[in-house]
This record gives sequence, C-alpha cells and structure tokens, in this order.
Amino acid sequence: MSGRIHNFGAGPAVLPLSVVEAVSDALPNLMGSGFGLCEISHRSATFQSVVDSAMERVRRVLSVPADYTVLFLQGGASLQFYMTTLNILREGEEADYLVTGGWAQKALKEAARVGDASAIWDGAENGFKSVPSDDDYTVRENAVYTHYTSNNTLYGTQYHHLPDSGGKPRILDASSDIAGVPLDVGAHEIIYAGAQKNLGPSGVTLVILSPWAMARCGDNLPSMLDYNVHASKGSLFNTPNTFGIFVLDQVFKWLEDNGGLEGSIARNQAKANLLYQELDRSDFWAPHAEMNSRSVMNVTWRLANQDLEAVFLEESAAAGMGGLKGHRSVGGIRASLYNGCPLDSVVALIAFMQDFEARHA
Ligand SMILES: *Cc1c(COP(=O)(O)O)cnc(C)c1O
Repeated sequence: MSGRIHNFGAGPAVLPLSVVEAVSDALPNLMGSGFGLCEISHRSATFQSVVDSAMERVRRVLSVPADYTVLFLQGGASLQFYMTTLNILREGEEADYLVTGGWAQKALKEAARVGDASAIWDGAENGFKSVPSDDDYTVRENAVYTHYTSNNTLYGTQYHHLPDSGGKPRILDASSDIAGVPLDVGAHEIIYAGAQKNLGPSGVTLVILSPWAMARCGDNLPSMLDYNVHASKGSLFNTPNTFGIFVLDQVFKWLEDNGGLEGSIARNQAKANLLYQELDRSDFWAPHAEMNSRSVMNVTWRLANQDLEAVFLEESAAAGMGGLKGHRSVGGIRASLYNGCPLDSVVALIAFMQDFEARHA
C-alpha cells in the first residue's frame, strides 16, 4: 500500500486502510467461498450474508428505528432526487425545498418534473455561504414534505440543527455527511446518500424509509423506480452492486470497531477544528463559509492573494497531498475530511500550510 497520498478528494473519497486491505483480500476469494468478490452470484448464501450484515450494521450504527426500511440501490443520490418525489408526490401536490447549494438545486429541478416543488429558501444570492435558520423560511401550508441537504459538499456549509419542517415530513440528502455527524433517523421520512463520500465506493446508494414513506409510495411505477419492489426483494430485485455493498459493510464494520457513530463524530469534529483553527489564525487564508454554517466534512477557502492558489495546489501535490482543488463554483481550495480521512492527513496539511505561508506571505 506504499505510495498512497494524503487524499482530500471530494468523492469518490479516501477509505480507511483496513477497509482497502479487506477488499484486497476478498478480491480473489470472498470469505473462503472460493469465489472472488467480483465473481460471485448475488443469489449465493455467501453474498446474502454480506447484504444481511451490511443492513444490520447500518441499523446499529445509525440507530435506525426497527420499522424503517433500509435499501441499497444504484443510480447515485442523483437518481434519488427524482425517485423520492416520484414515489411520494402526486401531480399538483406541493413540496418545499431548502436550496443551500448545487446539489439541492439539482434535487429541486428533478422534483419539479413530478409536482409543485418550490424553493422556500435559496442561498444563491449570498454565494451559498450559509444554511438558513428556522426563522428564515416558512413551510407552505399544503406542502407534503420539506427536502434539505444536510451538508453542502461544493460550498462547505452544513446544518448544525435539525431544520424545522413545520411539522411536515422531512426528506434528507445526507450524501456528504452520513455516519459522520449526529443524525436522528426517526425525525425523517426518507434519507438517502450516495456511498462514495463517507460509506464506500460509488455505485451504491443507501436509502432509509419510514413506514409513512413506504405506505405513500405510488403504485404502478416502473419497477426499478418503485421502493416497494426493491423492499419486497431485500434490495436484490435485480443484480445489485455486489462489490459496493461489500465495501460498505466493511466501512460500517470499521465504524463499529472504532466507537460507532459517537467515535466518528468525535474524530470528524477534531479534524475540522484543527483545520478551521489554522484558517482563522491568519489573514493569509479566507474561509468561504459563514462561521455558524461551517461544514466539518468539506472545508472551503480562498487564499487572500488568489494568484497563489495555483501555486498552493501545485506545491501541496508535490508534498504528497491530493484532491485539494476547490469546486469550480467556489474556486480556491477544498479539503474533504470524510469519515475515512485520518487525523494524520489533516496534521500534514496544516504543517504544509504553515510552511507555505512562511514562504509566500
Ligand atoms: C455527491 C453528492 C450528490 C451526487 O451523488 P451521485 O452519487 O453522484 O449522484 C448528491 N448530493 C450530495 C449532497 C452530494 O455530495
């Protein structure tokens, strides 16, 4: 495993080394079955034990209420933008969206294909530097649900409270902070997350649905877009991403072996605190997000002298750090500190930053 860099990429993102090693072991021979990880039937007892294990670990680590449904689907969070709405909303019905970044914009766009989906708050004018507080918006009286994005991957903002939904159901895109921050699953009707930031590789999407959501699912939907079809087959209606589910199970195993959700929250908070401390230490850095909306998962900043940003990226790469280029909508630098990112990487980044400042200030 030598030659691995400090990986701050926004996704697909760094995995714990022990997970990468477990995958490497399973590739030629999965759990002694004689079948390789990418070469085994999803209908085999061996693979069924992987799916069962993954579902149980998700339930344990995230404290999923017993009557909620857990699914492993494909199509990414991007398919869930549409699939949630297709299942829940009827033509003409209203759904409210808190538009806090690029992914929330995309979720709203897909929902509007199905019903009367509207932004009840939109941070675009303010450069998406913050998330709203509860008095910044009003849920529409007839809205069926409120959709929000807990962590805004591109802009580096995040809710640090459960957003008010006026007593209406909440639907959450938790793609970039799931299993890394506190989460009250029971306060939501649907939670979805692409795995490739915090839970594993791309190509598998975790979806958690309440009994209310399952009961509301429309009938006569195309099978692949129907939550009830996937639920009735235990996520094995068609060939799932077997590889991705195995990796996800290993990530949840790693989480369980390292203090569960509480341990994960503490590690992520510690990493983010260190980096924000460095950003606040000197005017050389210009953090993007407003203080009370700062993300612990994606830390975004500019250099006060923007001409130095390209040099920063070049020199950090030469020093063994990758994935630091900010999303084009913000520019500058973004360090993604997802669950799999070790504290060591953050310590190395800060040492590099201090050295860079000393040489270029
Ligand atoms: C990455 C991301 C997505 C898109 O996920 P895909 O799996 O590529 O569809 C959606 N929402 C958020 C918050 C993300 O960070």
